[in-house]
Amino acid sequence: MVVLDKPNLQLGSKTMDGNQHKEANVLLLGAENVGKSALTVRFLTKRFIGEYGDIESIYSHIDKTDGREIALNIWDSLYPQSCETTESISDKQLQWADGVILVYSICDRSSFEVVRQQVQLIRRTRKLSASTPIIIVGNKRDLLHQRAVSSEEGRLFALSADCGFFEISAAETYHGVLLVFHEILDLIKESKALKKGMVGIKGIVRSVSAVFGKKRE
Ligand code: GDP
Ligand code: MG
Repeated sequence: MVVLDKPNLQLGSKTMDGNQHKEANVLLLGAENVGKSALTVRFLTKRFIGEYGDIESIYSHIDKTDGREIALNIWDSLYPQSCETTESISDKQLQWADGVILVYSICDRSSFEVVRQQVQLIRRTRKLSASTPIIIVGNKRDLLHQRAVSSEEGRLFALSADCGFFEISAAETYHGVLLVFHEILDLIKESKALKKGMVGIKGIVRSVSAVFGKKRE
């Protein structure tokens, strides 16, 4: 695993034999204190260490699923202090991301509102392609007695916004966190295949227009 303290957008990775890996960039968003770093560290190390500090990092990790290697870059973001939600996501982050995980805490209603606003912001500004997958995660499921957002509300909002949805506890289990990351990877693969297909279709349209264009000359 490689940790880059300063988000570096020129990330690339090579295998031992020099071949380029397939890459997937995953951006974690959401209010502060909801467990973005806990989720990231749990996925990368299988451990829950309790305190993470306010650090923004991009972690690079080679994931092996279905026997295939993929270089997974995870941008564990910081929610900027004292700012409007409309300014909480940078263009740079959206240009970088192949998939987004939006995290809230089920015990903190205001963090759910932040996720709602961030989804609306992403959809409204259209700075993320419509096929780029978004998954909403309600974290801290272990603190059921402090629940402030019901599972139904979370699920319904995700459904209405065309996002995936999971409720997990990064503190209690590794399994839920693994499911979230594997789902986003699968969705990213699908979305990249779709985009490739679109490029293919555009190529055919261009060639056809070129032929017809020449005939008309
Ligand atoms: P971030 O600001 O979103 O990166 O949040 P952190 O990952 O730093 O976590 C904030 C606090 O919530 C820390 O004290 C974590 O130990 C705690 N935390 C994170 N995930 C969970 C969880 O699933 N359950 C509980 N009970 N606490 C959690
Ligand atoms: Mg953090």
